[in-house]
Parts: sequence; C-alpha cells; structure tokens
Amino acid sequence: MHETDSIAEARRSLEICNACRYCEGYCAVFPAMELKREFTAPDLGYLANLCHGCRGCYYACQYAPPHEFGINLPKAFAEIRTESYEHYAWPQPLARLFRRNGTVVSVAAALGVALVLVLTALLQDAGVLFGAHAGPGAFYRVIPFAAMVTVASATFLFALLALGMSVANFWRASGVPAAGGRPKALWQAVRDALTLRNLSGGGHGCNDRDGSFSGARRHLHHTMFYGFLLCFAATSVATVYDHVFGWIAPYALLSLPVVLGTLGGIGMVVGTVGLIWLKIVGDSEPVARRVLGGDYALLFLLLLVALTGLLLLALRATPAMGIALAVHLGFILALFLLLPYSKFVHGLYRFAALLRAAKERPAHE
Ligand code: SF4
Ligand code: SF4
Repeated sequence: MHETDSIAEARRSLEICNACRYCEGYCAVFPAMELKREFTAPDLGYLANLCHGCRGCYYACQYAPPHEFGINLPKAFAEIRTESYEHYAWPQPLARLFRRNGTVVSVAAALGVALVLVLTALLQDAGVLFGAHAGPGAFYRVIPFAAMVTVASATFLFALLALGMSVANFWRASGVPAAGGRPKALWQAVRDALTLRNLSGGGHGCNDRDGSFSGARRHLHHTMFYGFLLCFAATSVATVYDHVFGWIAPYALLSLPVVLGTLGGIGMVVGTVGLIWLKIVGDSEPVARRVLGGDYALLFLLLLVALTGLLLLALRATPAMGIALAVHLGFILALFLLLPYSKFVHGLYRFAALLRAAKERPAHE
C-alpha cells in the first residue's frame, strides 16, 4: 500500500496506543498491534481490515477529540480499508471504481435495471411481457433460460475471479507467515467471522449510535448476512432441482427454494433497513465521511435485490410478473458486477485479516 494521510494518521495513533494499551481487551486489533513496534503501510492495511468499526476504542479513549492527540481509530481505519480495496483490486484498471463508490454503485444499479428492461422489451413482444404466465417455465417465457444462465454464469464467475485475485494480493502483501502458525487458526478465524466476535466490544456490545453499548449492529449484520446466505442457498437448490431433477421453476410456495428465498429475503430487508437506520441516527464523529456513500449504496442495492425478489414472489401469477422479473434480475446483475468493486469485499478482506491474527496469536490464548 502507498503512504497516504490516513496511513500516517493511523501510524501516529497506534504509536500512542502501543504505549497506552488501555483498549487491549476490546478486539483483535490491539493484541495484533502489540506484536509490532513499527507499522508499515501493509501492516496498517492488515490492522484496518481486522478492525470491525465497533467504535469502542473511540468512546473509551481519553485522547479522543477534543483532546489535542485527537485519536480516532475507527475513522482512520475505515479510510485505510477503502484504500486497501482499491490498492489490491484486480484487474487494476477497475480499481478506480472504489472512488466515488456511492455514485458508481447507484449508476450501475440503474443501468443494470434499464439494460434488462430494455432488452426484454426489445426481444419479447408486449403480449409476452405483460401477459400472465403459469406453470413450469413461466419465468423463461419472459426471459429465455439460455440468456439468463449465460449472463448469470459469466458475471458470477468474473466476480469470483476478481474477488479471489484481490484477496490473494492483500494476503500476500500483508506478510502472513507462509507456513506454521496455530493449527486451529483456520477454525478460529471462521468462528470469529461467523459470530462477529469483534463487534461484541469484548462482551458488552459495541457503540452503535453513541457512548452507550448495544448489540443491535451485530444482530442486524447477522440478520442481513445469513439472509443473503439463505438466498444463495435457495438459488443453489433451485439449480439442482432444474439441472439434476428436471423440475422447472417457478416452485410451490412451500417448496425448499421458495421457503429459503423468502426467509432470506425477509432477513436481508430487516438487516439492511436496520443498518441504514443505525448509520443515520449514529454519532458521525467516529465515521469516515468519504466512505459513507459506498456503504449506503451497497446497503440500498442489497435492499432492492431483496425487496424486488419478494415482490416477484407476490406478483408471479399476475401480468406484472414480466416487469417484476426484469427489474429483479437487473438489480442482481448490478450486484454481481459490483461484488469485487464495492463494500462487499470487506467480508473477504476481514476474514483474511482474522486468519492472519489467529495464526499469529500466542498458542496459550
Ligand atoms: S484508543 Fe486511546 S485509550 Fe485505547 S489504547 Fe489507544 S490511546 Fe489508549
Ligand atoms: S473500532 Fe472497535 S474493532 Fe476497531 S480498533 Fe476500535 S475497538 Fe477495535
């Protein structure tokens, strides 16, 4: 990573933290920091991605603003995280999409929906687009199966490749021990990621809105994340139904793909709305304003994917199904294309940082 103002600010702060160490029980960042005396830019990229932005150290710190030291780690780390996504992104020419990310995500979402709507309107006559369709293959009468699968596979595979290459760049640059480390490090990192242990503030919750403690953000993030996984499971089960058993969508209301997708969609709506609300009502002092646009944009895109999916379920037997399907697929197309160039990458970078921290942790802990 390059030297930037955020890197210099985080380095200055951590040199003070390393002498103070008051916050060492709050999260994984402080024990990892204590293993170092000097902080290179890649070290700070690693520590920034280990930070979950719980804000506990900001409200606990006697040197936070208005003190002249002005320690504000959540803000500095949030800026460095976005710089790291851009620095390690693959392919590099697309890394610029992380700048003005709120605008990029919003424009891509609008273009995704417009593209699918226009193509559907051009390729289908109005009778098909605005007609009611029922029974197996109803969706494919509006958008042909081959077009749907080709676009979905191409965008998803590209997103997987770009995400994998970006995280591999980050992993290599952060200087992880090539071999060794604790044997249970992988399991520990998986557990820390799935439980969001670092959003617990050491057990008493995090500072979602102000100096008071709460578990709201952790629970809402769980609701959104597991909702997303349920939707992914619904799509995977539907793929097996289609390709292995020859059972063609749409499926009955109580079938496994529909139940998983409905629960997942509701979870995503509840989680994203709650997280947006927390951002709106929360204290803005520990927040990096220049990354907020990208945070909001991804939350709104996930919300629109979930809402249009639920809307499609509600309208699938009506003449509005064609338009609902095109709009839903448009948002999914935008989401897939933006996976490697939006805040979505934070999950993978954070997992890589958690794995490094678990590998470096002393064996007796
Ligand atoms: S954030 Fe403040 S209180 Fe916490 S370790 Fe750093 S200097 Fe000390
Ligand atoms: S904001 Fe929370 S997770 Fe980040 S360094 Fe401070 S205490 Fe740790």
